[in-house]
Amino acid sequence: MKIAVINSGSSSLKFKLFDMDTKELIYSKLVENIGEKNSKVKTHHEALESLDIDFSSLDAIGHRVVHGGDEFHMPTIVNDEVLKKIKNLIPLAPLHNPANIEGIEVACGYALNIPQIAVFDTAFHFHMPREAYLYALPFEMYEKHKIRRYGFHGTSHSFVSKESAKILKKDLSELNLITLHLGNGASACAIQKGISIDTSMGFTPLEGLVMGTRSGDIDPAILIYLQKELGLSVDEVDKILNKKSGLLGICGKNDVRELINSKDEKSKLALDMMIRRVKKYIGSYMALLGDVDAIVFTGGIGENSDYIRDKILDSAFFNGIKILVIKTDEELEIANECLRVLRV
Ligand code: ADP
Repeated sequence: MKIAVINSGSSSLKFKLFDMDTKELIYSKLVENIGEKNSKVKTHHEALESLDIDFSSLDAIGHRVVHGGDEFHMPTIVNDEVLKKIKNLIPLAPLHNPANIEGIEVACGYALNIPQIAVFDTAFHFHMPREAYLYALPFEMYEKHKIRRYGFHGTSHSFVSKESAKILKKDLSELNLITLHLGNGASACAIQKGISIDTSMGFTPLEGLVMGTRSGDIDPAILIYLQKELGLSVDEVDKILNKKSGLLGICGKNDVRELINSKDEKSKLALDMMIRRVKKYIGSYMALLGDVDAIVFTGGIGENSDYIRDKILDSAFFNGIKILVIKTDEELEIANECLRVLRV
């Protein structure tokens, strides 16, 4: 069985094709800078056209969709109604869902009779307990407006948790794990017996850890202050929090390799802030989980930087806990989820 996965971003399209009988990657291509000046590829449609693929030979196409709201907690075969509902979720993920939708629409045009399956980043966290996913806001904010914590990077946390179980030679249902997806976007997850019971990202992927360009947790009163006292518009505040904060905001750079090699004091400060925040989350998840079988690192920073891993773990508090470093494969996880849907 052949399953293709499309991870469509605003200016990129990542495509992977798997033989699901062997779980082998048969073909992969990353098209970047779509629609940008001097780029040959102007649209997502052209990006798909540039692939060396016979779409009629596929059994399904899986699509990464970042936000599934409170509507989608399972991989879902896309039809007109599902697509409409995903479009309705755009206000919850304005940076991500439109590009995901574009990928689905373009692929549907190419492969009319092949199931297109949406796999949601939020789905893995759907079973968090209420005390984890509710904000202490007036309850009607949740009931009427669906304002709650959703969590993201679900396919990655899920993938590395299953890989951890294989490495530890235990059933996932016997394990308590803390998974750390540390990339440009970053999140932590407390996984009890295979279920996400808490995660650092919330209503949007802005909450939690100090990221490349995102602030993570801040006092929400700062947003009021920025608007009331400094006269910033809603859009300006949005841009500051999502694009101008995090490591970039503190030291002007967000490539962690550069920060590590820099002698500049602010680069060190930015890394210290990032590391401290990760430590605080690990500590709080240890308190929630009780026994922790392993702390698992993944994502560009988590997989590649022993310097950052060592700094995060430089406390005796972590003695005796297994540390795993696992390369994530969100596309393979999406293909596995598609297989689950097709087999039902
Ligand atoms: P994204 O969230 O964009 O998918 P990635 O998971 O690709 O991000 O991670 C990108 C981050 O990983 C960048 O900050 C980059 O500097 C960092 N990174 C990659 N390799 C290394 C390395 N060897 N040492 C430290 N950081 C690294």
